[in-house]
Amino acid sequence: MSQINCSFCGRRKNEVMMLLSGIDAHICNHCIEQGHQVVMEETRPKRSEPSEVNIKLIKPVEMKRHLDQYVIGQDDAKKAITVAVYNHYKRLMQPSSNDDVTIEKSNILMVGETGTGKTYLARSIAKILEVPFCIADATVITEAGYVGEDVETILTRLLQAADYNVEMAERGIVYIDEIDKIARKSDNPSITRDVSGEGVQQAMLKLLEGSVVNVPPQGGRKHPDQRLIALNTENILFICGGAFDGIDRHISKRINTRPIGFSGDRRLNDTMERGHLMRYISALDLKSFGLIPELLGRLPVLTHLEPLDHKALLQILTEPKNAITKQYNKLFRMEGIELYWTPGALDFIVDQAMTYELGARGLRSICESIITDAMFELPSRTDVRKLTISLEYAREKFGKSGTYQLRSAA
Ligand code: ADP
Repeated sequence: MSQINCSFCGRRKNEVMMLLSGIDAHICNHCIEQGHQVVMEETRPKRSEPSEVNIKLIKPVEMKRHLDQYVIGQDDAKKAITVAVYNHYKRLMQPSSNDDVTIEKSNILMVGETGTGKTYLARSIAKILEVPFCIADATVITEAGYVGEDVETILTRLLQAADYNVEMAERGIVYIDEIDKIARKSDNPSITRDVSGEGVQQAMLKLLEGSVVNVPPQGGRKHPDQRLIALNTENILFICGGAFDGIDRHISKRINTRPIGFSGDRRLNDTMERGHLMRYISALDLKSFGLIPELLGRLPVLTHLEPLDHKALLQILTEPKNAITKQYNKLFRMEGIELYWTPGALDFIVDQAMTYELGARGLRSICESIITDAMFELPSRTDVRKLTISLEYAREKFGKSGTYQLRSAA
């Protein structure tokens, strides 16, 4: 009997996973997938003019007011971001240019310690604007041809977040975390290849500047069989974030040797705390930290997030719309149990978060370790209708399991 082949690509039955037969022909799984992608692309709505794009344009003040309900503090960052985002989407809505002024893109760079809310801020903005959003980690990206992810796969996630709607994705927001980890290792431009540093920064340029990028719809390495989707990054807003550990040294070095302010007579001294110094951060410091000028040029809005102090962490624990304690209260209320937190217990949780230097990120795991026993036992108890988390209770439960968990997370 003759060998059965795919009537489209000619592959033999033993070369494919599946071969479906029709009346007179056969089709393999590869061709079905490709055919599906072609159909999806052909049937999607035609591109609309930028001026017709329907975006929920919210003014900066209102946007900040929305943000305030979720994100505590960080007023400087909120202001910088809301203005940048507002201008970005205004630019998108500008009618096809009939004058010479083209508004340029305002990609954002956020500098702030871990757990200060960088990701949260970016995510909240996307939520308010109802645009697709994705998070990518700069550390897993490598230059094309090396082991790791290609820079294009960042856009795969955005495409997935937009449900493969290209127009939606082209107006989305991408948050690139840990941008500081791809800093050039030395201040000299590299002569040899620097797989994880400068090379990746170079590769990222084409995403940030606004070009058409061929994106593998399923992610991963570009597979010869995979049909690529062309995505224009011109209107995608990129927000990059990083902790930039040690950047304070660069800042103080720069401003100590140069007078600041208009009077020219003020100098900052070495004792200035990091949080305060960060206010003076400029692209020059990031350049000496190891970001290439081309990349910095494409991230024109630079802002910083303050380290969270005791008061801010306490607010985060109790005040935002979906504050952690509110979430636990809700979970217990669903069991018919009222949960109370004493001020002493809340202070204890914040103190632990500060000790482990995890910022607000530590709060959840600390609460979890304190409350897990109760969440395990109480649903089966009908006699308990109220639980008070006191300082003693928190200390006892946290002492049992929390220290270990946090140490491994730190
Ligand atoms: P980063 O990206 O700066 O490392 P995240 O944004 O991931 O930190 O913060 C971790 C979590 O901590 C968030 O999911 C959020 O719940 C909480 N959080 C951090 N900062 C704030 C803040 N300023 N206001 C409210 N919640 C915050």
